[in-house]
Amino acid sequence: MSMSFNRLVSLSLACLLSACTSEMRDGQRQQSAAAVDRIYVIDCGENHAKDLSAWTTTADKGKAFVFSNHCYLIRHRSDWLLWDSGNADRIATMPSGLVNPRGTLTAFMRKPLAESLREIGVAPEDIGYFAMSHAHGDHSGNANMFYRSTIYMQAAEYDAIHGVEPQKLGITPANFEKLRGARIVKLNGDHDIFGDGSAVIKATPGHTPGHQSLFVRLPKTGPVLLSGDFVHLRSNWEAKRVPSINFNVEQSSRSMLEMESFIKATGAQLWINHDAEQSRAIPKAPAFVE
Ligand SMILES: [Zn+2]
Repeated sequence: MSMSFNRLVSLSLACLLSACTSEMRDGQRQQSAAAVDRIYVIDCGENHAKDLSAWTTTADKGKAFVFSNHCYLIRHRSDWLLWDSGNADRIATMPSGLVNPRGTLTAFMRKPLAESLREIGVAPEDIGYFAMSHAHGDHSGNANMFYRSTIYMQAAEYDAIHGVEPQKLGITPANFEKLRGARIVKLNGDHDIFGDGSAVIKATPGHTPGHQSLFVRLPKTGPVLLSGDFVHLRSNWEAKRVPSINFNVEQSSRSMLEMESFIKATGAQLWINHDAEQSRAIPKAPAFVE
């Protein structure tokens, strides 16, 4: 009784000080554009390509290239969401890296994800929510570490992993071995993870059958779209160029155009995971971006 009386008094005082209307306004703004608290951009390895032209044009034939690779840890109130899991931590013990089955890329992992998480002060079991842009090894390398999380995956990607020929799609089934009993939420399109619009999975198929991207609203930086691999490089984005290696080129083009409209509508920045040059300007964990 006295508690509610006190609250009533403090609320009335707030209104007398004309703060109540601005408080209400803030509340409304929060409802329409809630934000997560922060994002940690974690260095999750490097991928050295022998021939860049597979991602760009024949003009780059035979040109060696280094792609960056990131994981993104997002804090939302008391919850943690991990987006992508990088190259496998075990690659950190291989000084000359690990060549992919197609022989097109050599993966390196300078610092294991487990160590980066430790530096931030988060244990794998603290991460309640986990999603990957897609099932390729440079994004699912440490997926097994998050078998306790609720995992969001497009149904088409789930089917590709558990289909008859995952290797043909560049997928390594062993990367998902420990997720057999995990809580996997299968999606057929976009999904608002926290229900407040602050972190929304966007379906962007084409690079793989169930590729997805993540839209995040940051409190100071504003809206950001984490690309996954719907685009690999800024130059490809500007030219709306689709790599010939993609699962479905037509679908990839459609996803690019859809994301272009989405970016125009939301004013989001596009953070391209594999574009080392663009990523250089973004602070890396253990620092974070708000
Ligand atoms: Zn990738």
